Amino acid sequence: MKPEFYLDHNATTPLLPEVREHMARALETLWGNPSSLHWAGRAARKALEEARERVAVCLSVRHEEIVFTSGGTEADHLAIRGALQSEAVAGRRHMVASAIEHPAVLECCRRLEEEGYAVSWVAPDCEGVVQPESVEAALRSDTALVSVMAANNEVGSVQPIARIAELTRSRGILFHTDAVQALGKTPGVLPGEWGVDLASFSAHKIGGPKGAGALYVRRGLKPMPQQRGGPQERQLRGGTENTAAIVGFALAAELLGKGADGAHGAHVDSGGQEGRDGETAMREIAHLRDSLQEALIARIPGLSVNASGAPRLCNTLSVVLPGCPSDLLVMALDMRGIAVSAGSACSSGSVKRSHVLLAMGKSPDAAGSSLRFSLGQGNTLESIPAIAESVAQVAEAVRGS
Ligand code: PLP
Repeated sequence: MKPEFYLDHNATTPLLPEVREHMARALETLWGNPSSLHWAGRAARKALEEARERVAVCLSVRHEEIVFTSGGTEADHLAIRGALQSEAVAGRRHMVASAIEHPAVLECCRRLEEEGYAVSWVAPDCEGVVQPESVEAALRSDTALVSVMAANNEVGSVQPIARIAELTRSRGILFHTDAVQALGKTPGVLPGEWGVDLASFSAHKIGGPKGAGALYVRRGLKPMPQQRGGPQERQLRGGTENTAAIVGFALAAELLGKGADGAHGAHVDSGGQEGRDGETAMREIAHLRDSLQEALIARIPGLSVNASGAPRLCNTLSVVLPGCPSDLLVMALDMRGIAVSAGSACSSGSVKRSHVLLAMGKSPDAAGSSLRFSLGQGNTLESIPAIAESVAQVAEAVRGS
């Protein structure tokens, strides 16, 4: 059988075995509606509130600041639309977003533009870092909200969130960060310490299930609910909660600090700092990533590494292979059992150039010839030379074709 190598953990992660077992038990025993008053409902409610507490402890925030959602995309929408429509910024119709956001944020903001909001798009520097000075220059007297991701999904650049939060706080502007990729892959993912008002998370990027996520909402802020219905989630998000997925999410978050998954780490004890095991896991995965980077540079002429001068997620390696269209590389590597991405998952399958690389000032050719390796659970140091060799052979074949 052909060996299989999965290096696309920023697209999604396999479900951790402990999480799978925990969810299977929850599906059997916690089927009650958490809003029901009777024993079946109370059992589900108890599990749900315990899960909220566990996620809150991981992020070092209060349990009432966690709103469960169906994932990162919904959390982003609730944060951005809900913040703009909140009383806190009533009458202001301008927002600032970075040009390297995930489509979950980009498309939400584009829709807002169509609805008459003004959006200023801030470009990153050439390393994929959104500089606080650039954000500051885009602020206006009617700015209601700034949204800058905590770490980029494609090149892995980690953003100076606490410094941007200082700017917004002093001006009474709300600040949302999409922290979906940051959790478990960079130390100190602590919304309270950052000083942000809103932060989005997703379970399936940390060994949890698809279809569960959370929005951190700073105490005192009341975003406008975007999905109305029952009074669930403190009336911020109507709809019966997905108890099994949420308890799975909470366990995955808790396991980060125990280093259960190679790409895990941002931790989890009551202090909210990284646990030793989580830190070790991040260091190990960074070592794998660096080994792959060195092996690729040694074998492939002309290869360049994106965001190599930025603080990066421990697991992410984005490279440009001049003369090799990304989609051809992805397909050829897939035939060898190697799963990688041409950028964000949402753009793989189409020949779209990376908006992230274009925003970083790369040429259109470079933005169409990039590959993203994102490492995690199951990747080993022993497999690195074979993977690098395959990439080199495939690049040579594509260039020669
Ligand atoms: N934000 C970022 C940075 C992401 O990488 C993703 C998923 O790729 C999302 C948001 C969307 O999360 P979800 O798939 O849970 O909706």
